[in-house]
Amino acid sequence: MVYSSRSLWSETATSDSPRHILTGSHRADVVIIGAGFTGLRAALELSESGLSVVVLEAGDVAHGASGSSGGQVNPIPPFNTPSQFRRLLGTEYAERLTNTYIQSADDLFATIKKYQIDCQARQNGWLRVFHSAKALRKEEVCVKEWNEHGAGIEFIGRSEIERKSGTSAYHSGIITPQGGAVQPLSLSRGLAKAAEQRGVKIYSKSAVLSLDKSEGKWTAKTSIGSVLSDWVIIATNGYTGDLIPGLSKSIIPITSIQIATDPLPEETIGSILPEGHTMSDTRRVIMIARREPDNRIAYGSHGREFGNDTIGGVEWLIKDAERVFPQLRGVNWSYRWGGKVALTEDRLPHLHEPKPGLLVGLGYNGRGVAISNIMGKVLAKRVLGANPNALPFPTSPIMKIPFRSLKKTLEGPAIWFLRLLDYLESR
Ligand SMILES: Cc1cc2nc3c(=O)[nH]c(=O)nc-3n(C[C@H](O)[C@H](O)[C@H](O)COP(=O)(O)OP(=O)(O)OC[C@H]3O[C@@H](n4cnc5c(N)ncnc54)[C@H](O)[C@@H]3O)c2cc1C
Repeated sequence: MVYSSRSLWSETATSDSPRHILTGSHRADVVIIGAGFTGLRAALELSESGLSVVVLEAGDVAHGASGSSGGQVNPIPPFNTPSQFRRLLGTEYAERLTNTYIQSADDLFATIKKYQIDCQARQNGWLRVFHSAKALRKEEVCVKEWNEHGAGIEFIGRSEIERKSGTSAYHSGIITPQGGAVQPLSLSRGLAKAAEQRGVKIYSKSAVLSLDKSEGKWTAKTSIGSVLSDWVIIATNGYTGDLIPGLSKSIIPITSIQIATDPLPEETIGSILPEGHTMSDTRRVIMIARREPDNRIAYGSHGREFGNDTIGGVEWLIKDAERVFPQLRGVNWSYRWGGKVALTEDRLPHLHEPKPGLLVGLGYNGRGVAISNIMGKVLAKRVLGANPNALPFPTSPIMKIPFRSLKKTLEGPAIWFLRLLDYLESR
């Protein structure tokens, strides 16, 4: 069944001022395409250094994944471990990227504090729950590696997991102390406001349709305006189109969806996430959950987006939420919404510099709230003259994902197959 979107974040976010559509010709030091966390954080960092910055956004601020995300600020990436980083990138980058990931949540909470962004930020730790004994065995190896780098992750047994999460559906789990939560649309609006207070110009409903270089300068054109600049940053993640050759083929956009309840009475919600942890599980088709300060539950996983603000996959998600938390059976799930994340072939975030003055940062593989902010900061550093070899992310060529169309086509059936594996494994 197809549902109209209704986002909890849109209804509870801090207010935002309307922005203009880009018209006429403009000049800036840097043009940023995309006003999600990556683009906004890059804009904010650049504005601190006195450069003139224009951000062009196809929708409104945080129209993409940033405004629709689960808002879990979780620092460990969903797929690779430090030893896998080493295998993919060599020792030096692996060390830098491992440390960058571990520090990414602290960095974001410090930024929120520095700019006094009102976004219900709370750093109560991230509860990651294991759906099977096999998942525990796998995670023991991963956690050891992260802890060797100072992540400070703690194992917790079944009864403690049950008490901290409010569900008996899981085998055991871990707590990562740096994790936490934000209201993601309020955070995006707060970053935008801080950047604008420092002189950044943000235009909404201003999709960039072409990008050309002539005489050492870039021109980004929208339907009724253009900006000439020295640098361009592309920060379009799961919404990446064909602005530069091959970029859209270097990622696979995947839809994630969220549902949320109305505020619930204490007798219903009391036992669920009582210490305010964010929660996710180890299933191949991941589940994420959080409890809001006003006693709602937000719950998310994979889903489908049909355009025109409609989504699918809601029935399965409600069924799963009520299986994991039987306390929620029969409550009103009044909110459902979704957005696109970008998967990369090697499951690493990608930083590209395909031409002088042109930077791209994308590919957070579904866990991007903290690391996209770091990417934005790193892109800004590069514009300001940092040596590309000294950044936490290696600068890589844009590579088409092999058999991408087939992989995209098979996504739907693959999700059902992975859900079946998860189910069999967790029995
Ligand atoms: C439902 C959902 C739940 C998630 N939950 C979590 C979570 O709990 N924790 C976590 O860590 N991560 C989560 N993520 C992932 C995280 O939200 C993303 O990794 C992160 O927000 C990416 O930020 P971004 O700025 O790179 O991209 P986006 O926020 O997607 O921004 C890209 C922007 O580019 C704009 N754009 C595209 N093309 C153009 C163009 N030609 N011209 C102008 N603008 C353009 C789009 O309109 C969009 O606003 C979730 C994602 C979704 C969808």
